[in-house]
Amino acid sequence: MLSKILSKEECASCKFCCSFRRQSLWETPLFDEKQMNAVLEKYPGVKFTEVPSSVNQSVRNKKIYTVKLSDKYKTDDSEEEVSCPFLDSTKGCILPRDLKPFDCSIWPLRVVRSDDKIKVVLTPTCSAINKIELSEVKKFVKEELEEKILIYAKSHPEIIKDDSDFFVKL
Ligand code: SF4
Repeated sequence: MLSKILSKEECASCKFCCSFRRQSLWETPLFDEKQMNAVLEKYPGVKFTEVPSSVNQSVRNKKIYTVKLSDKYKTDDSEEEVSCPFLDSTKGCILPRDLKPFDCSIWPLRVVRSDDKIKVVLTPTCSAINKIELSEVKKFVKEELEEKILIYAKSHPEIIKDDSDFFVKL
């Protein structure tokens, strides 16, 4: 969804957002049951795990799943990164567009809840988007994406994160 401002080539060569340290496991891609089953039909060997509501307060009334990475770490180093099983080292994400999680398609944008309102914010750790003027990113998001993202978030509240000072306001 951000291909107008982020080039696919730059994202494919970086892959930062598809690799996770233990402390970043809250950012792994989210699938509802239907999405997970569709993915498992195509990739039956991939392991999923249910996201507990204690991790994501927005999933209380719905079963939500993510890829299971916790058993893939080989060391105790908190900086060790493990890749999403759908990341190909040369091609990038191998999931077809219709199976790719929405929250992956909008990264580094995120939806957060703040004072009972939901809003779109920016994750500050994407080196590619950080090369673009923030005012340009804001304009693009407001004009082209915000409405679509908020509509999706209302029907898929699992993508809504808790707000924090970590995110950049748009
Ligand atoms: S599903 Fe695709 S885009 Fe999302 S983290 Fe995995 S490899 Fe990356």
